[in-house]
Order: sequence, then C-alpha cells, then structure tokens
Amino acid sequence: MRFSTQLIHGSTHSSDGGVMPAIQLSSTFAQPADGTFDEFVYQRGHNPTRASAEQVLASIEGARHAVAFATGMAAIAAVAFLLRTGDRLVTNNSIYGGTYRLATIELPRQGIFHEFRSDLATVEAGTLPADTRGVLIETPSNPILEVTDIARVAETAHARGAWLAVDNTFATPYLQRPLELGADLVIHSATKYLGGHGDVLAGVVLTNDDELADRLRFLRRTVGGALSPFDSYSLFRGLKTLAVRLDRQQENTGRVIEFLQSREDVQRVYYPGSLSDEQAAIHARQASGVGAVIAFEPVEDADLEAFLGNLGFIDHAVSLGGVETLASIPARETHADYSEEHLLAAGIPPRLVRLAIGIEDADDIVDALRTALEAARP
Ligand SMILES: *Cc1c(COP(=O)(O)O)cnc(C)c1O
Repeated sequence: MRFSTQLIHGSTHSSDGGVMPAIQLSSTFAQPADGTFDEFVYQRGHNPTRASAEQVLASIEGARHAVAFATGMAAIAAVAFLLRTGDRLVTNNSIYGGTYRLATIELPRQGIFHEFRSDLATVEAGTLPADTRGVLIETPSNPILEVTDIARVAETAHARGAWLAVDNTFATPYLQRPLELGADLVIHSATKYLGGHGDVLAGVVLTNDDELADRLRFLRRTVGGALSPFDSYSLFRGLKTLAVRLDRQQENTGRVIEFLQSREDVQRVYYPGSLSDEQAAIHARQASGVGAVIAFEPVEDADLEAFLGNLGFIDHAVSLGGVETLASIPARETHADYSEEHLLAAGIPPRLVRLAIGIEDADDIVDALRTALEAARP
C-alpha cells in the first residue's frame, strides 16, 4: 500500500469488525486462571485502542515498532532514558524548548552530558566525543527551519557507536522518513501534524531495532506516560487525513512564502532550504516538500505588537500542525528558556515570527497577514 492508503488501512480491524477501533477504557483485563497472562493485562502496558494507532504509525513511518506516549516530551524523555550516567547526548543547535530543558537541565542532573553541535552534518566521525552514545536532531529545525543531513549524521553517530534519533515532528513521515536514511529512532510530537486538530497531546517513538523497542516499552510501563485510550482514538482518527491536510497546508505555505517575499516590510523569510543552497539541496534529497511551518523577520522598526494585535482570525498561539493558522514569537514563547547566548548561537532572531500554516483559504490567510503588516508599518 502507498502512503495515503496506509493512513486509512494501516491497521487490522478489531475483533468485532468495527471499521474504526473501539475505545477500550478498561484499566485492567481479566486473566486466565492458570497463572499465564493474556496479551492485554493492564492499560499502562497494553491497550487495544493504542495498539491500533501504533499499527498505523509504524506502517506510515516504515518501522517495525511504534511506541506511543502521552506527549511528545514523554517520548523524547523515554529516548533520553536509553542513556546512562557518563554517556553523552549530542544535539543540533536549534531544538524544541522542552528538549532544550531536558538536555541542559535534567540530563546533567542524572550525570548525562550534553553538547550542542552546529557542525553535525560536516563533522568527521572521530571528532564527536568518545562518550557520545546518542545523537538527537531536528530537521527542519524549530524555528529557523535549518536542515541537517540525516544520512550523513547517521554515519557520524554510528562510527562512534551512538544511536541517531530524529525528531520528525515538522516533516512528518509524509515528507521525510529518517529510518530509511539510517536513523535508529524517529520521534514525533503527534500533538502536531499526526493528530492534526489541536485537540490531543501524544508522542511516539518508532524504530526497527527490537532491543530498543523492548527497552522503550519497558520504560513506558515503568516510568508511565502511556497514551490514553481516548487520545489514542483521536490520534487514529486524525491520522487518516494527514496527507490531504498537508497537501493543502503546503499549497497555502507556498502562497504565504511568495507573499512575504514580495513585501518590503519583511526582511527575511525562513523555510526549509532558505538558509543556504547546500541546505536546499539536502532537503530536496531527503524530504519531499517544504512542510507548513515557516518564519519571518519584519523590518527592524515594524511594530511587532501591532502586528500580533491585528491578525484577525490567525490566533497568536504556540503549537503547530493543526488545521488553523497560528503565529508565535519563538524567542519569547517556545524558546523562552534558551539562554541569550544560545539564542544567538542557534541563529534565532528576537523578533522572529513563526507561522504554522493551516488549511483555511489561502487568500484569507494572505489578507490577514497583509492587514497585520500594514498595522505594524513603521
Ligand atoms: C511540540 C513539540 C515537541 C513536544 O511535544 P508535546 O506533545 O507538546 O509534548 C517536541 N518536539 C517538537 C519538534 C515539537 O514541535
């Protein structure tokens, strides 16, 4: 089956023949009397509704295993838990705010070292520190859409005996499948495009490695953070329209990029591949589309508050991947925990506006942005 068909038919029907899975809310399951266990025992470990969602997720990412968590951060924390005291995690510079807090505050408390590298795609394998056991990258990155060469970083990580995890939230498996490029683990905040409607928090880790999958399931059962049956259902339903939503979102994004680039009151527009020709070539090689998150810098004397206050139906809100267009200021919001030096190192301008483009009529999105930019006119 091809991608769009997998989204709809990527899971087997439940035993009652329902075309959609039932929401099985039971916390516990009656067991045979002989002391053995059936497949389902207790909801934290196993749940049929979650299993249905996991089947579809594994299918679309081309993975043998999908392990679903209550949030994207729970998924990322479980991956970080694969490391031990004395190990080192290497990440690219521009990572999700929660991942930043985990890597710079929580991991060091457990005696796990962390290092940012801006040169991950070009670095020689031998120059990663010898204690590197995990490499975690986001490509395209949040919020400046920096592109990292997944295949190249996989080689670099493996040469050190480290695994590579790719946070694929922005691209989704519709546009980019890191496991096929050599990554060992793929992580999603399914809260975003996979769920797609801004009404569920969910995370998932995907892998072809049986041992890593066992370890992740053990961690979910032990640390908690399992995806609930109801949220599993919402995710299952949302997934069905991923391809059609993204087709429309990318079409709209193309229109918005064109519009912003035509404006004299916009200094710079950021989208995957916009930072250099080299990054554009890498993105074209490893992904099949621009996605629907972009960012831009208004001219220096534009009134940012006036812009945000005159966006009409576009809400000023963090998050992305839903059907509605949202605007946010990463330096003040999603990336507020970055130190000032790290904001600079990651190339995140203080007045950068991030746009998550929805599926509304493109003319209305452009009109709303035009009105807001006019209101912000110096
Ligand atoms: C939102 C997000 C996360 C965190 O996911 P939650 O579901 O909010 O916990 C992680 N990585 C990226 C790239 C995200 O956008």
